[in-house]
Amino acid sequence: MNPKWNGQFSCFDLVAKTNDCSRSVVQVGDIEIGGNDFIVMAGPCAVESERQLLQTAEEVAEAGARILRGGAYKPRSSPYSFQGLGVAGLKILRKAREATGLAIVTEVMCKEDVDVIAEYADIMQVGTRSMENYSLLEALGECGRPVLLKRGMTATLEDLLRSAQIIALAGNPQIILCERGIRTFETATRNTLDIAAVPVLKTVSHLPVIVDPSHAAGVRSLVPALARAAVVVGADGLLVEVHPHPEQALSDGEQSLSFGEFRNMMADLQPYFALQKRGRQLRPQLLAVGGDG
Ligand code: PEP
Ligand code: MN
Repeated sequence: MNPKWNGQFSCFDLVAKTNDCSRSVVQVGDIEIGGNDFIVMAGPCAVESERQLLQTAEEVAEAGARILRGGAYKPRSSPYSFQGLGVAGLKILRKAREATGLAIVTEVMCKEDVDVIAEYADIMQVGTRSMENYSLLEALGECGRPVLLKRGMTATLEDLLRSAQIIALAGNPQIILCERGIRTFETATRNTLDIAAVPVLKTVSHLPVIVDPSHAAGVRSLVPALARAAVVVGADGLLVEVHPHPEQALSDGEQSLSFGEFRNMMADLQPYFALQKRGRQLRPQLLAVGGDG
């Protein structure tokens, strides 16, 4: 391993990779995140109605997604934007799981909501704005559910792993890291997808790493290309926004794929999934692209 990285990350001993440690696989029912299969999580930015979510769940499951995303509690840039349906949204997510068998990932914004969300969710999502909410991270240590930890939009990878270490120290080793784009001087995209974050994280940490191309791009036309990049660079999965009518979405419609666009993207990704899987089976010890174990 690059000696600079070793010095930088080894202090986060519960999440950092050591020479002899194997990769962590996060198990959600029969789904393995960080195993041989590439796992796609898809769904709307926010749960808006039962019809919207159930339709989306059926479509994304049919196209090959294994996990349904959808926010019931939404962190919004404006206090006047849709804030989510709360518990009513969680109940709709549960219905969608019953109808399709998809596992559920949904965001938790504060420690007070951890218990109720853990009753409904299979994976607890920590959003970019909450990555440094240490009291939330500590509360997630005891929630009994895996945590999907998104990188703060101005956070370094060291900051991200510090937050992961806090969750692990609080008792929960089931953590999935998520690169979702960072703030830079570029304005053509909503955020800048730091694609190098994937192989760096896979080299310095044993945790699974997924990519959210939707919040990185901010525009739907870029999502398939960024998703492809994520597979090629060795990510373990994707988190993608999909909506039955993106132009009517209550949040993040510009970056949400329609059903047809999601189906096409999944079809186009198949050869890349197969290539990645073959590589993993041939070189299980070298899961990091360009990594040295
Ligand atoms: C989301 O996943 O809808 C979301 C709010 O993401 P982020 O925290 O990355 O902005
Ligand atoms: Mn969103």
